[in-house]
Amino acid sequence: MTKLRQYELEAYLDEALPPDEMARIEHALRRHPEYVDQLSTINTRRDAGIHTLGEIWRRHRLSCPTRGQLGSYLLGALPEELADHVAFHVEVVGCRWCQASLGDLRQKEAESPGTVETRRRKYFQSSAGYL
Ligand SMILES: [Zn+2]
Repeated sequence: MTKLRQYELEAYLDEALPPDEMARIEHALRRHPEYVDQLSTINTRRDAGIHTLGEIWRRHRLSCPTRGQLGSYLLGALPEELADHVAFHVEVVGCRWCQASLGDLRQKEAESPGTVETRRRKYFQSSAGYL
């Protein structure tokens, strides 16, 4: 079975996961008591008022990363915890807005200035007759 990650357990406690993910984690909790220990560790830490960055984001519904953060994520330039949060947000929660944004950023990254210029010129030539 796949190992549960800390942010998955945190999101499970927040009930911030899609139903099939909630079910998968519930199943893992039943079979692996060490995850239950991990959950109670998270709860103890929360009771003490200490929250991870990912938790704060989820709690305050600041769940969508900024475009700058998504760009840094693509470049692998985010701190691990934040990168985990972005991966979780995009891949597990499946935020469509951020997926689209990442796709757009990837495309821009793949286009060297030369490619953009060529396309612009082609567009200009093909539409020149209509101007
Ligand atoms: Zn989002």
